[in-house]
Amino acid sequence: MLRHVPARRLSLETTVSTDAAMQLLARHAILFGVADSGSRIIPNDELTDGDRSALAWAASTENPVALAIALRVRSGDHPNATVAELAAIRHDWDAGGRPPPKPHVHRTVVRFADGTTVMGVRFLGDDPYVREDTPDFGLYLDQRWAPPWPHEHLDWPDFGVPEDLDALRRALTDLLDRARKGERVEVGCLGGHGRTGTALACLAVLTGTPANAAVAWVRTNYCDKAIETDAQEQLAATFSS
Ligand SMILES: [Zn+2]
Repeated sequence: MLRHVPARRLSLETTVSTDAAMQLLARHAILFGVADSGSRIIPNDELTDGDRSALAWAASTENPVALAIALRVRSGDHPNATVAELAAIRHDWDAGGRPPPKPHVHRTVVRFADGTTVMGVRFLGDDPYVREDTPDFGLYLDQRWAPPWPHEHLDWPDFGVPEDLDALRRALTDLLDRARKGERVEVGCLGGHGRTGTALACLAVLTGTPANAAVAWVRTNYCDKAIETDAQEQLAATFSS
């Protein structure tokens, strides 16, 4: 399929009026083979590999369009890009020579208030199973994980919260028990922020941090991008020890 994009940079602020910009975006959208209005939301299963690479790159930078999508995701609104947003991101990505995402890889040891340590990990990026030291156990919140060491999966939709909160509590308590016995343990999802960040916030509560401070605690002690949606914040803030 022809996916030609002109090299000229699209700037909504400075060089063209909003109307002209929307026309340009609409043209790009047609070039991308999606001849809808710019505001149509693109379902995940319609994204091509190139689209996904472009979105991953944009999300790893301070790209304003990606930030707008991230803000929307955080407020619980639709998590996908619109045709116009994707066109703008693809344009910038192509103009930049289709760069890979900037590395933001978590192999981050988090030390909780009671001294227990758990490593937060991300699947995307380098080989997900490369470690300085092999873990004794991993709790994974995304089915893609299949490491050679002992592990369990917990059902937890991306951008969501787990339906079975008892199973969540059991899994986190088991993880802490292992860590306290001296096992090297880790918790991970895909990007290492939403689900992993929320799980770390719940672990913070279980180890002595007040629930209403758990979200801020994780953003300070793990990553400022941790915990991605209002529902995830709500879960952490109301999790009881
Ligand atoms: Zn991070």
